[in-house]
Amino acid sequence: MQCSRCKSIYANSQSYCTTCGYFGLFFEVPARMSGEDCFRHIGLPASRFCVLCARPICDECRAREGFSFLSLVPTTECIECVTTMEALQAAYFSNLRSAGFCPNHPKAPLQHSCISCGLSFCDECLAFTSRGLLRRRPDAGPYCRTCFQMKLPLREFTRKISAADPRAKNAITRARS
Ligand SMILES: [Zn+2]
Ligand SMILES: [Zn+2]
Ligand SMILES: [Zn+2]
Ligand SMILES: [Zn+2]
Ligand SMILES: [Zn+2]
Repeated sequence: MQCSRCKSIYANSQSYCTTCGYFGLFFEVPARMSGEDCFRHIGLPASRFCVLCARPICDECRAREGFSFLSLVPTTECIECVTTMEALQAAYFSNLRSAGFCPNHPKAPLQHSCISCGLSFCDECLAFTSRGLLRRRPDAGPYCRTCFQMKLPLREFTRKISAADPRAKNAITRARS
């Protein structure tokens, strides 16, 4: 498998990137248990299989519960997988930050930080919300992609102005002075 975030290669037996923790795929796991024990609690009956490591887990070891719209089954992620992915991601981001590179573009230098989460990105990855219909101007920002999406209700007609846009450059300069 090749990671779509950091482009490193990892084993097909892994459901996430072992370099940056980015999610790759869910394993197909049986929906029903047949008397398995939780892999972390011997003697405790498992209630689900983890879709990231395919191991049987008990209720206590469920960290995240989702739903796959592709295969129409619930997806359960175990505490070990979730913790490992988060630790890998945190280490990857902090390495990039200390090297001064964007988490999404490991060759692009960091430009600004997102005003919501505080993480730094290159201009390509940052955007302002806009105001004005005919002459659009930057309103609030810059936001990273994730925060931009979370901030804005889907039904709202808000457009974005990339931080690489000259109009945004002025907004950033104004905010600084
Ligand atoms: Zn990766
Ligand atoms: Zn797992
Ligand atoms: Zn357990
Ligand atoms: Zn952010
Ligand atoms: Zn970037």
